[in-house]
Amino acid sequence: MALKDVRGIGPRSLVLLNKMGIQTVDDLVTHYPFRYDILKRGSLTDTVDGDHIIIDGRIESSPILVRFKAGLNKMNFRLVTSSGVVGISIFNRAFLKSHLVVGTGVTVIGKFDKRKNVITASDIKLETLSAKIKIEPVYHLTNGITNKNISTYINMALLGNYKEIVDFPPSLEKLEEAKNRLKYEELFSFMFKINYLKMENKNKNSGIKKEIDTKKIDEFIKTLPFELTVDQKKAVSDIVKDLASEGKMNRLLQGDVGSGKTIVSFLAIYANFLAGYQSALMAPTEILAMQHYNNMKDIFKDININIALLTRSTNKKEKDKILTSLANNEIDVIVGTHSLIQEEVKYSNLGLVITDEQHRFGVNQRANLENKGKKPDTLYMSATPIPRTYALTIFGDMDVSTIKTRPKGRKKIHTVVKKETEMKDVLTMMYEELKQDHQIYVIAPLIEESENSDLANVNELKDKLTVAFGSKYKIGLIHGKMATVAKDKIMNDFLLNKCQILISTTVIEVGVDVPNATMMAIFDANRFGLSTLHQLRGRVGRNDLQSHCVLISNQDTERLHIMEKTTDGFEISEEDFKLRGHGDLFGTKQSGDMSFKIANIKNDYSILLRAREDSYQYLLKKTEEEKQLKMKIIESIIHS
Ligand code: ADP
Ligand code: MG
Repeated sequence: MALKDVRGIGPRSLVLLNKMGIQTVDDLVTHYPFRYDILKRGSLTDTVDGDHIIIDGRIESSPILVRFKAGLNKMNFRLVTSSGVVGISIFNRAFLKSHLVVGTGVTVIGKFDKRKNVITASDIKLETLSAKIKIEPVYHLTNGITNKNISTYINMALLGNYKEIVDFPPSLEKLEEAKNRLKYEELFSFMFKINYLKMENKNKNSGIKKEIDTKKIDEFIKTLPFELTVDQKKAVSDIVKDLASEGKMNRLLQGDVGSGKTIVSFLAIYANFLAGYQSALMAPTEILAMQHYNNMKDIFKDININIALLTRSTNKKEKDKILTSLANNEIDVIVGTHSLIQEEVKYSNLGLVITDEQHRFGVNQRANLENKGKKPDTLYMSATPIPRTYALTIFGDMDVSTIKTRPKGRKKIHTVVKKETEMKDVLTMMYEELKQDHQIYVIAPLIEESENSDLANVNELKDKLTVAFGSKYKIGLIHGKMATVAKDKIMNDFLLNKCQILISTTVIEVGVDVPNATMMAIFDANRFGLSTLHQLRGRVGRNDLQSHCVLISNQDTERLHIMEKTTDGFEISEEDFKLRGHGDLFGTKQSGDMSFKIANIKNDYSILLRAREDSYQYLLKKTEEEKQLKMKIIESIIHS
């Protein structure tokens, strides 16, 4: 059944539902209430003005029906209750009129206007209710769609026509049971996929066994400008083992911002290159792809390795050339964005796939890239700290390497929260850094890049900073609405210290690495989740200099003070988790991986564990059944 075929949904409401992200009947019935109003049976005397009430009574006067334009109507009548007489109004229920005969006992549910002594009813039950409470679902809505509309549509979709809703949970316990059942279902299908992938990977022979030249790798490590941290070394050795094994590597490299994941991935690429295979490195943004490309060129400058960059802005001619060389095995490493998973991209012998900031990619996009080669080894990198228990579950199909030790000599980023009235302090701090030839990020209050008013804010900010520093220092501005070429130029200027202050929206959030930047000022910091702030702040403190982060906000300062106290991503994510749920923790909802409709992996962790175990058992049984079926077929062939 299509959404438009649900009774009650007309062309107008269809448009509105689509606008709310409801495209299918399935979307509709899984548009779960975000809360419930619990209505208790009350009396006129003990219910306060404006509160919801459930009340029994007898109809005292024949309903008067008023019809309005556009098919709307309203009925008024009086009801005698044990605590007095009250007026009842109900909208759009003309069809009930013939049942509302004087003397009939009914239960009315609605909102009590004590001053006018009127209840505006949301529902009238024709029999006296036995339940002590009524649980009313409350849905997210859009202008033009009421809560009642949603209830009705869902009811129609489930039951096919309008019946009195008998399947509403009659008690809080039943509600809890129903919710748990739906959560279980959702988590089961999620864990089923994870477990399925895990079983596939466990299959020996699933990957490519590679010859690893450890001697050359060690020699190369010695040429690096710094010594690897203990955790980096451990991660490299985990990866090398995976590459050498005949199973397929499926590893998550976890590490806080600035912990040095990039070099680990480069070493993986080097090992894969020495073994004679191509590598692909996929980044979530063009800026980041370009940065990886430039870094890699630099790191591998003395090695005869052919690296190419492919993004949306690579021109046609260049792109065709790259595609041909890639298919002919003339390119060893390809760095890019989503462009790498396009159908037309063919590899010669893809042996390793790395995705940076993996939570930005949906499961399907990841799977797509993996399909490109003959079961290449895969490495996912993520800066989102995930508590171990969750990692084991969510990334249950993967092995995990964690980088916890920070590179030597790193100082804790000094963080302060300031009010807008303290701008002078902020400017003083900026001046101090500029004087020492350091660079500064300024994050502008631009969340919805489509909003022109926000754009105006950013330009205004640029003007102000130009007044303050423009005579001596160069100020760059970068935002999501700019063309890629322009963005790249400004980013590159900042990298080369051709500009000292970079005003940016959150486009720089992931990955960008400019070690000489020692200060970040974030305006309207209250508009960001703590994990996002942590990611942003991770852009500074990338060398042995003392770095600073100023969070500017007039509101919500209590939450922001958490950032002053700790620079530990795990701790911050825990706090954020408490405050905002997993929405921010696992990156955006768009990732598709973590967007549960009713379950919440934190609060419903025990259900998650049960779903994991059950789906695992189910899969085991399935494989056993398949085996037996195959045996039967073989036997029947032999015996025929
Ligand atoms: P992230 O884990 O956030 O991706 P990067 O890989 O960008 O972090 O590393 C941050 C910075 O730290 C880079 O400038 C990198 O060159 C540097 N770095 C990485 N490892 C070390 C190390 N062991 N010692 C010193 N600096 C390092
Ligand atoms: Mg990174």
